[in-house]
Amino acid sequence: MIERRKTRQVQVGKVAVGGDAPVSIQSMTTTKTADVDGTLSQIYALAAAGCDIVRCTCNDEEAAEGLAQIVPRSPVPIVADIHFQYRLALAAMEAGVHALRLNPGNIRKPQHIKAVATEARDRGLAIRIGVNAGSLDPGIAERHGGATPEALVESAVRELAYFREVDFDDVKISVKASNVALMIDAYRLLSETVDHPLHLGVTEAGPPPAGLVKSTAGIGTLLAEGIGDTIRFSLTADPVEEARAGRTLLEALGLRERKGLDLIACPSCGRAEVDVIAVASAAQAALESLNIPIQVAVMGCVVNGPGEAREADLGIAAGRGKGHLFVKGQVVRVVPEAEMVDALVEAAQRIVAEGIDAVLADRDVDAERIAAEARDELLQIQGTDANHSAEKIAKIRQVADEQVAEDA
Ligand code: SF4
Repeated sequence: MIERRKTRQVQVGKVAVGGDAPVSIQSMTTTKTADVDGTLSQIYALAAAGCDIVRCTCNDEEAAEGLAQIVPRSPVPIVADIHFQYRLALAAMEAGVHALRLNPGNIRKPQHIKAVATEARDRGLAIRIGVNAGSLDPGIAERHGGATPEALVESAVRELAYFREVDFDDVKISVKASNVALMIDAYRLLSETVDHPLHLGVTEAGPPPAGLVKSTAGIGTLLAEGIGDTIRFSLTADPVEEARAGRTLLEALGLRERKGLDLIACPSCGRAEVDVIAVASAAQAALESLNIPIQVAVMGCVVNGPGEAREADLGIAAGRGKGHLFVKGQVVRVVPEAEMVDALVEAAQRIVAEGIDAVLADRDVDAERIAAEARDELLQIQGTDANHSAEKIAKIRQVADEQVAEDA
């Protein structure tokens, strides 16, 4: 169980960020904000993928006008992303956005920063101070010898001081960098320095899979330490991928309740009786659209599958041309291999409609016996060491012994 660091709470529209609010998921649209219908359709797709807050760029007047039409029709709160022109922040607030993101690296005049903060204060809106290692204030960067954790935090703290001068405190902060180690250190330092909610992200992480790995390393490490109140995966991909990744990470860490399917699959080995990757992909495609909040396991063999995945709500294990359907580790039905995925979908629907106990109570009385026979049969054919590990270990020892003999 992760113990989260205590932060103050701010409100982004209907979504609370910080305090005891669940860690929220954010993403950003890639459409032109002036394209109202295109942007709204992306926002709806993001919301359906589990995104709690969506950011849209507000880079010109047309974008601000687009926001005026987008915000009232959006299913989730909208944050306007502002760079360089503080007047666009004022325009975005006029358009009705729920929060702003300001980059202290490119809006630097104190009177401009304070004008925006004053307006946000009067309207009851939140602002994210979005420091970015790549666009750090040159003066701060020079003083610290580059974009160090201390430089990133100083930039955030200086912006915060301007906000406080006008009594504005509804602030979230991010100190993003594309370098994962730098980003982690910067957020650790920031979390010791302020009690504002933190928005986590590895900026410019790139396309998947590298972008996913980098973001997960950075965001996941901090979340596991209790740091972070809202997250964004910055991927060079469809933003829906960002929302899915964020959701998956939070569910994996136990920071959000599972909303959809959690499909697990064995990595496959010498015992596998089916192409586990193909069956897992088919099962994922069939089950995902049902949006069923259960854990489903696809296992390559009946020898170890039901036991290894006994914690799963439901699973299928292959053996001798058959699929062994199991619920909480107990085999409930045996079906022809070609019907494995259909049987899995049907059982998943029954679990959701009637519950696990009902499906277990209705199990085929012969299923466990048939599975046990298939297990015995496979063990006889494959032996207890289907992966030939003992043979490999013997060879490794032989090579090592030969090396010792040669060195002597
Ligand atoms: S023993 Fe069976 S369930 Fe485990 S990895 Fe191998 S094939 Fe999969």
